[in-house]
Amino acid sequence: MTTATTHGGPQLPQERRLVTEIPGPRSRELFERKQSAVPPGIGTTLPVFVTHAGGGVVVDADGNSLIDFGSGIAVTSVGNAAPRVVERVQKQVADFTHTCFMVTPYESYVEVCEKLNALTPGDHEKRTFLVNSGAEAVENAVKVARHATGRQAVVVFDHGYHGRTLLTMTLTAKNMPYKQGFGPFAPEVYRVPLAYPFRWPTGPENCADEAAAQAIDMINKQVGAENVAAVVIEPIAGEGGFIEPARGFLPKILEFCRANGIVFIADEVQTGFARTGDLFACEDEGIVPDIICTAKGIAGGLPLAAVTGRSELLDSVHVGGLGGTYGGNPLACEAALGVLETIEQENLVERAAHIGEVMLSRLHELRERVDIIGDVRGRGAMIAIELVVPGTKDPLPAGEIAAKCHAEGLLVLTAGTYGNVLRFLPPLVMPDHLLEEGLSILEKALSGD
Ligand SMILES: *Cc1c(COP(=O)(O)O)cnc(C)c1O
Repeated sequence: MTTATTHGGPQLPQERRLVTEIPGPRSRELFERKQSAVPPGIGTTLPVFVTHAGGGVVVDADGNSLIDFGSGIAVTSVGNAAPRVVERVQKQVADFTHTCFMVTPYESYVEVCEKLNALTPGDHEKRTFLVNSGAEAVENAVKVARHATGRQAVVVFDHGYHGRTLLTMTLTAKNMPYKQGFGPFAPEVYRVPLAYPFRWPTGPENCADEAAAQAIDMINKQVGAENVAAVVIEPIAGEGGFIEPARGFLPKILEFCRANGIVFIADEVQTGFARTGDLFACEDEGIVPDIICTAKGIAGGLPLAAVTGRSELLDSVHVGGLGGTYGGNPLACEAALGVLETIEQENLVERAAHIGEVMLSRLHELRERVDIIGDVRGRGAMIAIELVVPGTKDPLPAGEIAAKCHAEGLLVLTAGTYGNVLRFLPPLVMPDHLLEEGLSILEKALSGD
């Protein structure tokens, strides 16, 4: 039984257990308090209030244990309260909590940067600096690219998501809810097509070549390649609906960047740290970005993000031009070191690939039987299904199926430009029996029984 003194982490019983309806009375009470204390702009996917989490489950204030297919949006890839993270953070919090790395530095920050320089794609000389959030990482990558190139324009893609700050909201494609009413937006941002195989008008076979040609033509004709500081792209579009660009698209864009002195920035905030069955999603097609932005899975839930890139780019910025009060906080750095140890020692890259195999085989099989499933896609533990009106490609909103899953104790997230994608991001440490049980709940919800 879960009591207030039980800790989270992998020792939590790895089981789905519903003892009340979802949400239960205690969560409903807390949700009412939330409604009067927190503005509605801060939405809620599933209004159960969490008391513990670990392995593949989230336990709520009523004692329900839910199967977690969300990982707090691809953050707790090593599991909640992962032992190596907990141990390091507990020691650090008792030693010192903050100095500001720019005032008096400490070793763990440097160690995280050394590790990212070594682990990210490419064996060129690299530098890394640390910030607090994915948006801050992307924003800083653009600052560096502009400074290093002396150019201003930034090119982004349809279906892209890069954050909620003024610049990153501008880089983001989708109006509602991210941009509506929040203008004016930042200048010098240009959007070009993404190779979205399922929705490419002439079909998936032509998608990579045609989309790349259109994107490059737009850059040349509407912006001028010589004005472009950076191209910012997610190797798999996350919030946009887990869109894997058609194979060949990313290499073509990269080649164009190289030929024109444009900084290629990979936003791996959602795809990084073993999530896709590679340590970084760029590895799948051998993409070596000039700058890579990471966050989410980096520190097991402690706020941390990183900008890693070619030393000649990052070293071009003057002393004091980069940073922030909390960036690379010592607790977050220790957590990141615990995450990297866990990924290595628990073989989580292989584990993510295994999760992908299990999910894709069951979901492809389901697609044969369920006519609202238009597409099944993704890699590793980053898998999605796109829902359509049967016999068409018209988007079918995913909220109803998600709600059915939630009621059965399976936490799933939605995504997609058209809100018609169910996305699955289980912790990589999820045991197989929970993964299978979660998929069975999903199958039932989709089959309409
Ligand atoms: C979540 C996300 C961001 C923003 O990260 P925050 O930590 O929420 O600021 C940026 N890019 C991608 C691809 C993301 O998934």
